[in-house]
Amino acid sequence: MISVFGSANMDLVAYVSEAPKRGETVTGHRFRTVPGGKGANQAIAAARAGAQVAFLGAVGDDGFGAEMRSTLAEAGVDVHGLRQVPGPSGIAHIVVDDAGGNSIIVVPGANGTVTGPSGGDLATIAGSQALLLQLELPMEAVVAAAQAARVSGVPAVLTPAPAQPLPDELLDAVTMIVPNEHEAADITGHDDPDAAIDALLERVEEAVITLGSRGALYGARSGERLRVPAITVKAVDTTAAGDTFVGALAVARAEGTPPEEALRFASMAAALSVQRAGASTSMPFRGEIEDALR
Ligand code: ATP
Repeated sequence: MISVFGSANMDLVAYVSEAPKRGETVTGHRFRTVPGGKGANQAIAAARAGAQVAFLGAVGDDGFGAEMRSTLAEAGVDVHGLRQVPGPSGIAHIVVDDAGGNSIIVVPGANGTVTGPSGGDLATIAGSQALLLQLELPMEAVVAAAQAARVSGVPAVLTPAPAQPLPDELLDAVTMIVPNEHEAADITGHDDPDAAIDALLERVEEAVITLGSRGALYGARSGERLRVPAITVKAVDTTAAGDTFVGALAVARAEGTPPEEALRFASMAAALSVQRAGASTSMPFRGEIEDALR
């Protein structure tokens, strides 16, 4: 089983010719709500990639919360650890203009109320093959979850997004870190991914830097270093490519798959997802990933 301790947001996406300026009202041409949040996305990616997944987090007592819960449950994710708290669910208010530019407001809502795991959540983490973490919950809660995993000997896999300073206690408790190249540069101060991997490996046992359509770079303290190319595809929508990659990578590693093969599995999952519009809806199922790898 894989546990995900993370965010669940409803994305509210409005499509406009040009984003409104201050004091202006514009008429949009399309609107949709899309279940998201990096935690929920990684949970769905891992479930579709073939793992049993438990989600730990919070939604509000509004309709968005109910929809997030049913979306996760329909994806086969165990939502016993998804709390309902008074007040609004987390949302991301996204304006996309005709040139493809976007502006985003995230209001954490219920995600901001999450504290460190306790009771049944601790047992869930202890019984997992891996714990997936991102940075859309309060930092103290993320640190506590990573420490709970470390105490139980469960590897914690951190996606350090959105980028922010990482406390030592967090890195001390994390086994693997998976930043994209911008996050890796922010964390380490090195634009060169090889130098960034070296710096990350001073803090954690394994590191993967995702490089978009250029693939991914992997390093381990054991000295192993791999560069895995992306699969060449026509990208339609790269939203949540990184979350799909991490979810699938965690599943393969939890099954004992060696790093190179696990990275190829994750790259294929992400490549399949970028060929389809949407975030969680675009994530591939295990059979599709395996067929595409044949
Ligand atoms: P996001 O924030 O959109 O979730 P990210 O910035 O976290 O993405 P990326 O480095 O862009 O992550 O992509 C993650 C992985 O997805 C890459 O390592 C690669 O395997 C795959 N990928 C991304 N873009 C493409 C693409 N255009 N073609 C094929 N594979 C891609």
